[in-house]
Amino acid sequence: MTDPVVIIGTGLAGYNLAREFRKLDGETPLLLISADDGRSYSKPMLSTGFAKSKDADGLSMAEPGAMADQLKAEIRTHTRISGIDPGHKRLWIGEEQVRYRDLILAWGAETVRVPIEGDAGDAVFPINDLEDYARFRAAAAGKRRVLILGAGLIGCEFANDMSLGGFEVELVAPCEQVMPTLLHPAAAAAVQAGLEGLGVRFHLGPVLNRLERAGEGLEAHLSDGSVIACDLVVSAVGLRPRTDLAAAAGLRINRGVVVDRELRTSHANIFALGDCAEVDGLNLLYVMPLMTSARALAQTLAGNPTAVSYGPMPVTVKTPVCPLVVSPPPLGMEGTWSVEGQGGDLKVLCHDAQGQLLGYALTGTAVMEKLALNRQLPPLLA
Ligand SMILES: Cc1cc2nc3c(=O)[nH]c(=O)nc-3n(C[C@H](O)[C@H](O)[C@H](O)COP(=O)(O)OP(=O)(O)OC[C@H]3O[C@@H](n4cnc5c(N)ncnc54)[C@H](O)[C@@H]3O)c2cc1C
Repeated sequence: MTDPVVIIGTGLAGYNLAREFRKLDGETPLLLISADDGRSYSKPMLSTGFAKSKDADGLSMAEPGAMADQLKAEIRTHTRISGIDPGHKRLWIGEEQVRYRDLILAWGAETVRVPIEGDAGDAVFPINDLEDYARFRAAAAGKRRVLILGAGLIGCEFANDMSLGGFEVELVAPCEQVMPTLLHPAAAAAVQAGLEGLGVRFHLGPVLNRLERAGEGLEAHLSDGSVIACDLVVSAVGLRPRTDLAAAAGLRINRGVVVDRELRTSHANIFALGDCAEVDGLNLLYVMPLMTSARALAQTLAGNPTAVSYGPMPVTVKTPVCPLVVSPPPLGMEGTWSVEGQGGDLKVLCHDAQGQLLGYALTGTAVMEKLALNRQLPPLLA
């Protein structure tokens, strides 16, 4: 029997690739292996669950059995691969070996964990998949006060969502503004003001040093000496592409698993896409790049080698209190920023010396201009 195409991961990258592949090839055996429960869900919805009153079951779109039928695939859940042997085209699940025709790494990124002293480490919740979300929802039942660590896109989205869900939210991050790697300071100030209007209290500058139990709740001790009373802590301090197993197998890694424009790693029969992949130098942890990659890679796996190209990839940030769309300038391109508008309605543009639009951040009513601006942006990977 032919060895299967094996996909590691049943997140958006793994399932979208399987779906695209099955549009082109209904016969080749397909095996998906997932460390989690294999339910199909849209990860971006994790940060709108409270506002929409959706628990983890409510966010699940399909059970793995239904996905297996739909994809004509075998799906192994709660199964963590432990090694790859590229020379013999096989992988390891503990002692068990599984042979593959082609192997696709769609194993995502893991949450960065910061060391926190104190006796309440178990009250810190990263939320990076449906199972994390279920754990957090269970712990949050009947609780009122949430402390969020991190002022990046995900921390801000959770701050908005949990405020709308009725929580009192405090946010701590060691930076001067929200979304520092993504946003011009003017746009960041607009988002922060919007969230403050919802009641979110920001502590920008210090870090959380120690978390202690105090009666029914918790005391969070910050590095600036202040103490915040809360019931739960959500950690949103960053994501790191998973690369350990790839490195151990001798594949090239950098920030992510290094792949070329055909999504091929440094080994001919192993590919990567999604959060774990660094495509021609770009490691983009968003949905649009992985969907584009899935379509290109499905062609390659079906025998029609296809290079991926990325157009502009604007990101809609789910802070409805201050709508935000952002498209940072492509890597290595520098320009001059201008700010138009006032209050929460800003058009922040970045142009190069020739007047070419390189990137933007739009807040409030200015988000309506995104389609017109997208047409002027350069592609991220031409
Ligand atoms: C709260 C939140 C909100 C977001 N909002 C947006 C948004 O609005 N817009 C946007 O574009 N992006 C958003 N993102 C990012 C986007 O969701 C991700 O880029 C995308 O879902 C990543 O998909 P993935 O399949 O690459 O990884 P994942 O979904 O992380 O899937 C990885 C899979 O690999 C499996 N796995 C890992 N290791 C192993 C192993 N050793 N063996 C077997 N299986 C393994 C896991 O179990 C899982 O099934 C958001 C992310 C978060 C956390």
